[in-house]
Amino acid sequence: MAEPLSFKAAMEFAYGEPRELSPGVVRFVANNPSPYTYKGTNSYLIGTRSLALIDPGPEDAPHLAAIMKAAGDRKITHIVLTHTHRDHIDGLPAALKATGAKTAGFGSYPLVSEVAERTGPGGEGSHTDRNWQPDIVLKDGGRLQGEDWALDAIHTPGHTPDHLAFSLSQPGGLPDVLFTGDHIMAWNTSVIAPPEGRLGDYLESLEKIMSRTETVAYPGHGGQFDNPARVARAYLVHRRMRDASILECIKGGVDSVDGVVAQVYRGLDERLIGAAALSVLAHVEHLSERALIRASSPLSRSSVLSAV
Ligand SMILES: [Zn+2]
Repeated sequence: MAEPLSFKAAMEFAYGEPRELSPGVVRFVANNPSPYTYKGTNSYLIGTRSLALIDPGPEDAPHLAAIMKAAGDRKITHIVLTHTHRDHIDGLPAALKATGAKTAGFGSYPLVSEVAERTGPGGEGSHTDRNWQPDIVLKDGGRLQGEDWALDAIHTPGHTPDHLAFSLSQPGGLPDVLFTGDHIMAWNTSVIAPPEGRLGDYLESLEKIMSRTETVAYPGHGGQFDNPARVARAYLVHRRMRDASILECIKGGVDSVDGVVAQVYRGLDERLIGAAALSVLAHVEHLSERALIRASSPLSRSSVLSAV
């Protein structure tokens, strides 16, 4: 099937080097590259007087040292989390020790998926800390105000239930910018891996971004990109097409997740088959929630699938 998406892989950066993307927005890339994290996790310092840090990233002493050096004698007053995947939150304890900042984010959440929790290693981007409680709880529409910055939270579940995007108003008539976390990135589509990843939520969260007016987006991995509303629309179309092709596949008699992977992801690199199976499982859950297919319980990679 033709892919309607075009990815933006280019990214200018160096590990340990601060990069000013716009006034009061400085990006750092952690040295944790992988098929799930691309070049590494992005951390952002916001503000010009006292600062906020968006996503400390993995536990990585040189990464934190680069952030602290760039902050200089300016205080980091807040550490803000887009979500609690380990490659975003593992560096939090050391960052808190270094800054004494207050934490802000969505906070704990229950798992609602029927899919059992994954065990064992599942790639650097996986495993959320769903019991994490920030000092300041931000829900949809919540605002975090600093000395010369303000971040408005947009609840964007799907990649994880606790995922927040943030809109930053810029000074001097500059257009607002959007921090999209792992919800929308330009280098690849977001991983939707059950149980914390839920496709129905993800699609609704894409629609939410489609109504945004920010002109530039700063993602959790990969380089900045323009027009996040348009990118969200392209990703929504892509997922709807995939949803339709998976439904067709099951209607045609394919009765297992692995069978769907073999048909829909023909010729896929073998190392990515596990990730593809999780993505298909997310579609299976979404199709089954809408009563478009039947899947044997409990929902898992070995569920038997049938058309309705
Ligand atoms: Zn993530």
